[in-house]
Amino acid sequence: MRRDAIAHMSAVNLLDFDLDALAAWCAGLGEKRFRAQQLFRWIHQKGERDFGRMSDLARTLREQLVQHAEVRALQPMSERRSADGTVKWLFDVGGGNAIETVFIPEDDRGTLCISSQAGCAVGCRFCSTGHQGFSRNLTTGEIIGQLWHAEHALRRQLGLAAGERAITNVVMMGMGEPLQNYAALVPALRMMLDDHGYGLSRRRVTVSTSGMVSMIERLRDDCPVALAVSLHAANDALRDELVPLNRKHRLADLMRACHHYLERAPRDFITFEYCMLDGVNDSDAHAREVIELVAGRGPAAAPGLRIPCKINLIPFNPFPQSGLRRSPDARVQAFARVLQAAGLVTTVRKTRGDDIDAACGQLAGEVRDRTQVRVRLQRRREAEPLAAPVAAVAQAAQGAAR
Ligand code: SAH
Ligand code: SF4
Repeated sequence: MRRDAIAHMSAVNLLDFDLDALAAWCAGLGEKRFRAQQLFRWIHQKGERDFGRMSDLARTLREQLVQHAEVRALQPMSERRSADGTVKWLFDVGGGNAIETVFIPEDDRGTLCISSQAGCAVGCRFCSTGHQGFSRNLTTGEIIGQLWHAEHALRRQLGLAAGERAITNVVMMGMGEPLQNYAALVPALRMMLDDHGYGLSRRRVTVSTSGMVSMIERLRDDCPVALAVSLHAANDALRDELVPLNRKHRLADLMRACHHYLERAPRDFITFEYCMLDGVNDSDAHAREVIELVAGRGPAAAPGLRIPCKINLIPFNPFPQSGLRRSPDARVQAFARVLQAAGLVTTVRKTRGDDIDAACGQLAGEVRDRTQVRVRLQRRREAEPLAAPVAAVAQAAQGAAR
């Protein structure tokens, strides 16, 4: 084997390190913490991978970095832009697996939807990721690598001035259950929050979970960011069917964990996501169960525990094997009105990027058949017209928003 190949194999990926870990690693090279901060800023704030260009680092340190380390970026398989400005990347994470990252621009913010696993073991009925099964956890470097790639690619494409940010918010709502990949997730969250990294406030980073009670408790202690809980049903029997994890983590325990989380949360409410499935969970009676649950009343509730919350209704994004249908718009509106009449702040998620299958929170089936993923994506790429220039797309998105 060639020497440079051997060196590459043993190189550490600096994207795996939050600042404390990077400082510890740099200390091993005899470097002070402040050097690690400089290096961290080069990587995350400037998007630099080439150690030779990190001009304020001593030459000896740069040489050591070249020898022992690398910034191992993700390999994009495709980048697609929707007419509404949404951008979706598919990244190859090896072994026939691809993960999805979606950027959603809005007037006052740019949100990146990040994946935490290749596949997912929870297996929710209405989720195409769940239908694929679980392949593997992403590493910290692969989680933060999605933000690294998207932020710096967008800055270049949008021609942003130094110091301007493309991404202002992160939601862990891509593929996977983030709290089932806790060890890799927490350092990635810390990098998002770090002033030497992406400098996002805790309110602007949201972890979405299907309801891993014990892990919600840990997140509260280790790194309390905004929390979204995928509810989908407010009685245990129906939720057992839709979110199999509910058989172990009952609604009453979940409500207790939410209540406890709020003591440390950066926002004074939990966001409950509710995927609207025609004839399954979308009646007025189901809406009343939600009202009871979060008020701490009724059979599924934690008695007496009211959960300050906002409800986000997500129109179901259909995929062939689900056997489920999206609730009609009028039903979604009627459901929302029942909740609102009870004083619950309720929003209906806009469907974005429909033309590029970029629904946040679901990988629209492309990677289901893992052996075929490469072939299919290649074919699709060839069939697609060239992406429109970003500036024109951004303008169109702004126009649509007015
Ligand atoms: N595993 C985490 C985060 C990823 S899923 C969780 O379940 O919360 C992000 C959101 O997308 C969840 O609320 C999930 O319920 C929702 N979702 C999944 N599949 C969907 C679909 N086909 N249509 C609409 N929303 C879906
Ligand atoms: Fe996993 Fe979330 Fe999909 Fe459920 S909805 S299968 S937890 S990714």
